[in-house]
Amino acid sequence: MHATDQFTAPSGLPAGEGRLEVVCGPMFSGKTEELLRRIRRAQIANLPLELFKPATDIRYAEKEVVSHDRNAMPSTVVASSQALLQHVNAGPPLAVVGVDEAQFFDDGLPDVCSAMADRGIRVIVAGLDLDYEGRPFGPMPLLLALAEEVTKLHAVCVETGRAAHFSHRISGGDNQVELGAQDRYIPLARHAYVAAKEEENS
Ligand code: ADP
Ligand code: MG
Repeated sequence: MHATDQFTAPSGLPAGEGRLEVVCGPMFSGKTEELLRRIRRAQIANLPLELFKPATDIRYAEKEVVSHDRNAMPSTVVASSQALLQHVNAGPPLAVVGVDEAQFFDDGLPDVCSAMADRGIRVIVAGLDLDYEGRPFGPMPLLLALAEEVTKLHAVCVETGRAAHFSHRISGGDNQVELGAQDRYIPLARHAYVAAKEEENS
């Protein structure tokens, strides 16, 4: 037994369960599937849990986290990281908190996730590590640094069949946040992404 297991967290669980896990990668890499898989296993273990998503992401459903394969689970929609924390503080103690589309949250999310993990909650965060320009996205860099465990997933490059690390925008404007799926974004491996960018700029 670890020393920390002797302390009981406010969640009522041993404080040693508190940790931050991040699942990242480009669009279509299976981040939401992986998040839902971990949450389902926690459900099987009868752990009190809640899944959150930002108000920004209403692509498939208002109140569900939905993968591109239409796997779905009920979720709580919150407008900010503070609203997420307030919701967790106001409700019954939770053992597991899941957050999808973390890149759309404000810069307060890393602190909020750390605080929940410190209190003994297993926090599982899924989000895009890079935006369509290949830039680190929103609060993700800090979350990646703070996490005990990082899972980097890859999609299948639609040009080469290789592991895709980039989400290339094929239509829409140049705002960092433009919601869409296959109609707007394609996953590309690095050299295919570089070639697509060069073509775009030529
Ligand atoms: P993410 O949350 O990372 O965007 P999802 O978990 O919602 O991804 O969806 C992953 C699913 O998307 C895969 O299981 C697969 O069925 C589907 N998919 C569609 N296009 C691709 C692609 N190019 N590469 C990998 N998966 C794809
Ligand atoms: Mg997703």
